[in-house]
Amino acid sequence: SLTLGIVGLPNVGKSTLFNALTNNDVLAANYPFATIEPNVGVVPLPDPRLDDLAKVYSSQRTVPAVVSFVDIAGLVKGASQGAGLGNKFLANIREADAICQVIRVFDDPDVTHVDDRIDPSADIETVNTELILADLQTLDRALPRLEKEARTRKEARPTLDAAVAAKDILDGGRTLFAAGSEVDITLLRDLTLLTTKPFLYVFNADEPVLTDQARRDELAALVAPADAVFLDAKVEAELLELDDEASVRELLESIGQTEPGLHSLARAGFHTLGLQTYLTAGPKEARAWTIHKGWTAPQAAGVIHTDFERGFIKAEVVSFDDLLEAGSMTAAKAAGKVRMEGKDYVMADGDVVEFRFNV
Ligand code: GDP
Repeated sequence: SLTLGIVGLPNVGKSTLFNALTNNDVLAANYPFATIEPNVGVVPLPDPRLDDLAKVYSSQRTVPAVVSFVDIAGLVKGASQGAGLGNKFLANIREADAICQVIRVFDDPDVTHVDDRIDPSADIETVNTELILADLQTLDRALPRLEKEARTRKEARPTLDAAVAAKDILDGGRTLFAAGSEVDITLLRDLTLLTTKPFLYVFNADEPVLTDQARRDELAALVAPADAVFLDAKVEAELLELDDEASVRELLESIGQTEPGLHSLARAGFHTLGLQTYLTAGPKEARAWTIHKGWTAPQAAGVIHTDFERGFIKAEVVSFDDLLEAGSMTAAKAAGKVRMEGKDYVMADGDVVEFRFNV
């Protein structure tokens, strides 16, 4: 499954956040046979639709989609030159599908900042610079080979052109993700360039910032169009220790929030990875399944079982809203809200589906 790698400078709250991400029992509860890696935190994607579906179908339980975060230790200035855990850091980050940078906004005289000041924009710049330098090294190492290939085979020319264009962008201090369609990065896939990965930013803040909309807008603007999540990592860890809803609400209210930051983090992580869900329901469970945006019905069926994809005949599809309004599948069918979709159907978020297939 796809993962987001958590990075950030020392003392920004990465471990605190990561502990909150690992200290929940969603995996154990829903995927008893999954192996849980020590450096992977898995959080459920909050989805109120599942509870509604479970009511319609009298399902015994709900199974949410999940988002996985990997703890990537060791980013310091100079990581691309091998400083700190530099090389290990870069190898780990290469394996992640998106990058989640934690940025310190909280002010606490007892917690030193590596550069002796709270400056979110400088922290973002530091991390970007290390990743850009690492990509430049990768390209510099690959260019002689790509040049040679382009001389002997003319089909290899576009790859060389893409590498040269990528180098220009990085030399100008921009990430390849920010450069968007300026370079065809699919041609450079083998190089696993770090700055092609989508970014998500977590601002680790205290109550005064969390409740200051103008300040939040300012910080979000620093990273736009990437997603920005605001939370207090320390409070997130404390929330998980509470077992009654009233105390959870009270603690959230004390920092001016209506839901845990992990919820918005899960949603933003899902969005950054380009994922969406579709839903299935029956007496056993109401469940959200993870697919990529743009996937067709047979591909979506394959997430449940590979046989479902191979033997796909058609999908019976109703939108969640129509189903809920009708009150039952039978009523939705009677109202003409249930569609039969074929193998070219592109799934929409919130489709409630039953697949027909040959075994
Ligand atoms: P890391 O080096 O990025 O993993 O940072 P840690 O998670 O170890 O946090 C460094 C210190 O900052 C610890 O003493 C935390 O308790 C503290 N800390 C983390 N998050 C917050 C926060 O949101 N507010 C405050 N005041 N302190 C925090």
